[in-house]
Amino acid sequence: MMKQYIETKNQYKDCILFYRLGDFYEMFYEDALTASKELEITLTGKSCGQEERAPMCGVPYHAVEGYLNKLVSKGYKVAICEQVEDPKQAKGIVKREVVRIVTPGTNLDTQALDETKNNYIMCIVYIADRYGLSIADISTGDYFVTELPDSGKLLDEICKFMPSEIICNESFYMSGMDLEDLRQRLGITIYALDSWYFDDAICKKKLLEHFKVSSFAGLGLMDYDCGIISAGALLQYLLETQKNTLSHLTHITPYVTGKFMMLDSSTRRNLELCETLREKQKRGSLLWVLDKTKTAMGARTLRKYMEQPLIDKTEIVRRLNAVEELKEQAISREEIREYLSAVYDLERLITKITYGTANPRDLTAFRSSLEMLPSVKYILEEMEAPLLVNICEDLDTLEDLCSLIGSAITEEPPIAMKEGGIIKDGYSGEVDSLRRAKSDGKDWLAKLENKEREKTGIKNLRIRYNKVFGYYLEVTNSYKDLVPEYYTRKQTLANAERYITPELKELEDTILGAEDKLYALEYELYCTVRDTIAAEVERIQKTAKAVAALDVFASLALVAERNQYVRPNINEKGVIDIQDGRHPVVERMIPNDMFISNDTYLDDKKQRISIITGPNMAGKSTYMRQAALIVLMAQIGSFVPASKANIGLVDRIFTRVGASDDLASGQSTFMVEMTEVANILRNATSKSLLILDEIGRGTSTFDGLSIAWAVIEYISDTRLLGAKTLFATHYHELTELEGKIENVHNYCIAVKEKGDDIVFLRKIVKGGADKSYGIQVAKLAGVPDLVIDRAKEIVEELSDEDITTRVSEIAAKEHASKKKTRVKKYDEVDIAQMSLFDTVKDDDVIEELKHIDVGNLTPIDALNTIYRLQNKL
Ligand code: ADP
Repeated sequence: MMKQYIETKNQYKDCILFYRLGDFYEMFYEDALTASKELEITLTGKSCGQEERAPMCGVPYHAVEGYLNKLVSKGYKVAICEQVEDPKQAKGIVKREVVRIVTPGTNLDTQALDETKNNYIMCIVYIADRYGLSIADISTGDYFVTELPDSGKLLDEICKFMPSEIICNESFYMSGMDLEDLRQRLGITIYALDSWYFDDAICKKKLLEHFKVSSFAGLGLMDYDCGIISAGALLQYLLETQKNTLSHLTHITPYVTGKFMMLDSSTRRNLELCETLREKQKRGSLLWVLDKTKTAMGARTLRKYMEQPLIDKTEIVRRLNAVEELKEQAISREEIREYLSAVYDLERLITKITYGTANPRDLTAFRSSLEMLPSVKYILEEMEAPLLVNICEDLDTLEDLCSLIGSAITEEPPIAMKEGGIIKDGYSGEVDSLRRAKSDGKDWLAKLENKEREKTGIKNLRIRYNKVFGYYLEVTNSYKDLVPEYYTRKQTLANAERYITPELKELEDTILGAEDKLYALEYELYCTVRDTIAAEVERIQKTAKAVAALDVFASLALVAERNQYVRPNINEKGVIDIQDGRHPVVERMIPNDMFISNDTYLDDKKQRISIITGPNMAGKSTYMRQAALIVLMAQIGSFVPASKANIGLVDRIFTRVGASDDLASGQSTFMVEMTEVANILRNATSKSLLILDEIGRGTSTFDGLSIAWAVIEYISDTRLLGAKTLFATHYHELTELEGKIENVHNYCIAVKEKGDDIVFLRKIVKGGADKSYGIQVAKLAGVPDLVIDRAKEIVEELSDEDITTRVSEIAAKEHASKKKTRVKKYDEVDIAQMSLFDTVKDDDVIEELKHIDVGNLTPIDALNTIYRLQNKL
């Protein structure tokens, strides 16, 4: 046996091998040491013909899922090795085979999965400076592929999908991407596969075979060279671990990242889209407010929508139309939601069905879900919004499958598949007659019991059954003398004896024979029903997607109604005009309508940058995030918290806010802040929305102020960037820039002074705050009076009038000199080739600029460099 074990283990070296021995899965050697530690189970030993006993530990087969999930969630791969022949019939060692490999990205156990989230596995190949990316969720059958030009975009995609496992080729593994960060911070298991997985010819062949097509044109993958390799490698890996045909992966969907709004990982976190920044929980996130879905499929789809907002006006308007109709048709909507609440997770159920792991109860859950569909479709038929009409068309009521299950499977079947009780009476003549034989047998037994009682005069004679002896006649000791000759004794108990007779034996054979046959037949019929359903996987998946989308729109409609949202108008002119906007999450967190609404206006012409001042705690971040969230909600297709909203589409939202959660990464707060600023300035476009909170806070006042200032100048210049920006700062000196730099405007959040204290009014007004009220806020926070009083004294002496005057002078000078510089039109597409200045004298400035490593420049160096360059002009 150990020989067989070692042979198997050698084929699955990177897995922990669960080796089936009777009622246990055993692990040996290294595996046993690892598993006993991780699972906290006892380590024992087994003698195996060597000097030392082999370390061993085991888990009982009936509780295997829990142990398995624990190992897999810790990033291990587990190979399950089963006995594949009946031990009673085996000659020599029982044959065993690995039947499945479970890995973090391929775990199908519903207990281990969050039903509101997809469990993705991602395959990354890095070939000739491009990234091929494929992503699958085998629990739902989703399968996507794309290609990306650089590692920044790749990281954005990783953060969007948040796979639990990444497989990759060796060149990606060695490409210098910070894999440790992905492992530690995002908890993703990552490893490189052998090079043969990425063989061009094999990948292509496998994909064409799987999707039963002759060319990649049929799959829409003509232009995806490294995408195809990635998808092919992933498919091979899945086939190998799942050891089944994966018939539920019916489609592969190519996508381009340009179709969606880009959100980098820090923006996703900062805006708290799906979880909060600190507690990492759903409560308090935007998803928490918007998610009123009734099905697991709907919940997953809403999350997907939130993770990739749209940028195409037509598509957004289609979604808004659907939401609007469902909002207006409140009664129909609530009826639909009522039906949907009885719909189980069709996507994961059909996966179980195609895998052959669905039990009879899964089929009844499936059927009860299907029963809801005709009513849903009936209501939908009245709807007019084109998206709802599409959903209605895609929604197949699957009545054939519903009635198949209804006629074949009993109303309350057992979970076990091989112990009968599954097939309904009347479905199969053979099942009925076997059942009759079984129950007639019971009558015959009763008759035999009576007959024997009369014959022998043993009044309390009983026919009983147990698994070891089968049927027997039981006689208590007091009647022992009356037992006739033809009784054969089987067993003696303390107060009774057990016998059989030839007649009883014959009856037993008939009854048990019928039972064995019945169970086998029921199992066979059950499998046929299951396979019939499995063959309809495409119809079911399409219906599941339709149900999911409907659930999402109904949820958005309900939230819009309950929270008094309005339908945003979508424009492509770059105007963002929000009236009486509210923060969708904060307004739900504070008691009864205490939230103060505010307007936001930004456009591409005169009003590109708003500088927002106001003391700490005034509500600056809330205000800025609110604008970002409203834009994002509109681009998902949701209504928005405002009295009126006109939303100009944005291609990306960038945020730069507090960096506390990055402290763990070992970089200083300021370095993190500047790296993010660098990223924003390099990647934003004139169509982006930037939310910049307290830039330059992490360094000295002068450095900080100078950087913030330079950043505003850069953003405001349409030849350089020209993005719409909300810029909160506590450097109220920056308000001097209004009027000096075109399209910059000042706003502040009003506070009222009340003697020595301040009251927060939470209302945004035009103009800059002239004071920072830091001392008053410190007082509110409970800093001791002695400190507060001394701070007041110091502040008096340190009057900052001087610096404000200086700032005003420099700004005026800069403004005047700018007008003189002749500037070529900025070429939006090709930043690298960009020629800023057209005089010969400036060529070396351009050369020097080209070679600056901005990411590694300290702020002081940056300032010095700008200063030096400027002097050269
Ligand atoms: P700042 O960024 O200016 O320091 P925040 O935006 O963090 O201030 O706001 C501080 C607190 O004020 C928030 O936690 C929120 O509870 C409250 N708040 C902010 N804006 C509003 C508003 N418009 N209406 C009501 N309360 C608000």
